[in-house]
Amino acid sequence: MDKKNREMAHRMTAVLTPNYLPQPVSIERGEGCYVYDADGRRYLDLMGGIATAVLGHCHPAVQAALTHQAGKIWHISNLFLSSPQIELAERLTALCFAEQAFFCNSGAEANEAALKLARRYAHDREEKRFEILAFDGAFHGRTLFTLSATGTPAYWEGFGPLAEGVYHVPFGDLAAAGQRLSDRTAAIIVEPVQGESGVHPAPPGFLQGLRDLADKNGCLLIFDEVQTGVGRTGPLFAHQTSGAEPDIMTLAKALGNGIPIGAMLTRASVGKSLVPGTHASTFGGNPLAAACACAVLDTLTTGGVLETARKTAEHLGRSLEAMAHRLGPDRVADIRGSGHLRAIELTQPATNVIHRCRESGVLIISAGASNVRLAPPLIISNEQIDEGLAVLEAAIAAEIS
Ligand SMILES: *Cc1c(COP(=O)(O)O)cnc(C)c1O
Repeated sequence: MDKKNREMAHRMTAVLTPNYLPQPVSIERGEGCYVYDADGRRYLDLMGGIATAVLGHCHPAVQAALTHQAGKIWHISNLFLSSPQIELAERLTALCFAEQAFFCNSGAEANEAALKLARRYAHDREEKRFEILAFDGAFHGRTLFTLSATGTPAYWEGFGPLAEGVYHVPFGDLAAAGQRLSDRTAAIIVEPVQGESGVHPAPPGFLQGLRDLADKNGCLLIFDEVQTGVGRTGPLFAHQTSGAEPDIMTLAKALGNGIPIGAMLTRASVGKSLVPGTHASTFGGNPLAAACACAVLDTLTTGGVLETARKTAEHLGRSLEAMAHRLGPDRVADIRGSGHLRAIELTQPATNVIHRCRESGVLIISAGASNVRLAPPLIISNEQIDEGLAVLEAAIAAEIS
């Protein structure tokens, strides 16, 4: 038992940079909401590859798109037309405010493109706008510009000097945001729900308030939906319940259900600044990734997955309330989130709870030190939710006193 997992952990430390601290199990395959480790143990996946596997592992529709495209062409670069990429852009622009798409390979790259576009757009209008307003606790990625916009100083340590002109104010504080804007502001960037820092939804009216501030100021508004987009919080895109629309939206995590792809979506009036030569990505939106993302969107929007997921999300919400009530305020400080993105804030660090859950066959992750984050596939059933939460409740009861 655990022989292969242990061997893998040993080999890893010899050859990989030490920036990750993985759990000591090597996940070898997955099907739906279950994954299996190298020693054949089964786990219920309540974290979906960090909010990525919206349709579960090896979903047949995405697998079919992947293998079909794999037999045709994988990569030819953006120096040629590519039908899967055009089809993906047509789908995405039909589903939201946007008219144009730029494709890349990750969330950080999508935000990098958004922030660069904001500066270039100002440049083209002959405005001296280059500043970016972001929020405390935000996570926008690990490239230098997106790291600069990330609102957790610990992530910056030793990587300075950061990008110039990036400022942070408290998340949810419209007055502070308004005060920080000036005729040098190029864009405001915000997550509709701050995911990494602990699943903190924007307070009611906050996104619309930022829209109004951006309009008054003349800067752009960027919604980072890398974690919240593609059905994760209930609607297809989280901002669609707020009434506010951005000028730019970024997507990644769930867009390819695990196949690496990112997208930056915008209006034509803004996107027009990306004239030939201004920005590019070798792999961005390649046929393999784009074909998979098309299958993900089709399955979510026409396959009835979003409607069914709304019902299981209600069950998940009720079950979490009841669980928090049973465990009491000495153990559970708060529960937050919606849809299939939730946090249980514990009164102590979450690490031991996460390990105990794994040992009992359930995968969960943290978000900030004391939050347990749930981001299961949207295809999870009520029974699987019950199965997972029973393990989680027992783990919290055992580890948090
Ligand atoms: C994960 C995440 C990113 C970064 O995505 P990568 O693919 O890891 O570069 C950016 N923004 C948000 C909101 C995220 O959750």
